[in-house]
Amino acid sequence: MAANVDENVKALQEVRRREENASCVDCGKPDPDWASCALGVFLCLDCAKIHCSIPSINNVKSIRMDHWEEGQVEFLAQRGNAKAKARYEALVPAYYYRPVHTDCLVLREQWIRAKYEREEFMEPGKQSSYSNGLMEGILWKQGRDNRQYLPRRFLLLEREGCLKYFTKHDAKEPKMAIKIDTVNAMFQPEKTGHPNGLQITYLKDNKTRNIFLYHEDGKEIVDWFNAIRAVKFHYLKVAFPVACDQELKRRLTRNFLKEGYMEKTGPRQKESFKKRWFTLDHRRLMYFKDPLDAFAKGEVFVGSGENGYSVLEGLPDGTQGSFTWQYGITIVTPDRDYLFTCETEKDRQEWVAAFWHVIKQPMTPQEYAVEAYFKLKP
Ligand SMILES: [Zn+2]
Repeated sequence: MAANVDENVKALQEVRRREENASCVDCGKPDPDWASCALGVFLCLDCAKIHCSIPSINNVKSIRMDHWEEGQVEFLAQRGNAKAKARYEALVPAYYYRPVHTDCLVLREQWIRAKYEREEFMEPGKQSSYSNGLMEGILWKQGRDNRQYLPRRFLLLEREGCLKYFTKHDAKEPKMAIKIDTVNAMFQPEKTGHPNGLQITYLKDNKTRNIFLYHEDGKEIVDWFNAIRAVKFHYLKVAFPVACDQELKRRLTRNFLKEGYMEKTGPRQKESFKKRWFTLDHRRLMYFKDPLDAFAKGEVFVGSGENGYSVLEGLPDGTQGSFTWQYGITIVTPDRDYLFTCETEKDRQEWVAAFWHVIKQPMTPQEYAVEAYFKLKP
């Protein structure tokens, strides 16, 4: 018997070492050490936990800790990650967001449910809730003044390239109509304090505006996220007919490069430093009094090194304003320097790395236009 068990473990490890099985079938994390006996795939511990919560596929085992029957190993050898992907991901739309291991739980869970429980990508017509260019429903939106979440009717229209919301359910005129080309959406469970919390940003008069939303149902909120991506994808396809899908996909939604608290001083650099919430959204550095504010108190354009932008550790000698935090950062721009302080050295290193990531990239023609706008601003 013991010999057989050893044989099974050896055979299982051989199957696992195949290149197709070198990363988790659902999130791509390298070296998965769990497997599904229901689907015949290899997956990471976090995705295995999600599989466990879904009755129709709840049959996962640890490669290292569990006992394996010969038949189960054979099943894995016959199936494997490549065949499963060909079957369950056959019709994933180009704009559909495929989560990675670092994404929030609601995105990863709904991806797994969409693939295996709802089988959304196996036959045409099953993606209709987010793919037909029209989505309407109630989402809970944070009010601007008292931070309370209230149900609001949202309407997404591919025909108009627009996302609208209404304060009264039967209202004819929307409270806001947002052009899809400036819309960005990202999940923000920690910042909003809700596992399904979604932040939407858009530009109005070239200034960033925030909306915070959630829906109790994970499928609903992820469908909205993918519907926004779908409408933006179609908008970009019309605007840039020669661009390939891969290039357009990168421009659908993006996460912020970094967020967190820093202290800042004013333009004369003699003012007391004030603690603010900072968000680096590619080349826009915004600061807010509170992380959930609808408007930034200010925005700074971060250009490229070849255009005179730079980031330095520390503050200039003789900085006069009083500050509490000791880890200084100076952002050099062609017009003026911006002085910030971080609470810890680790924070400073992360911010400096995020700024360098942007500064070392050359500016696109569109970004020159945005820079010019920032310079015109009073
Ligand atoms: Zn995984």
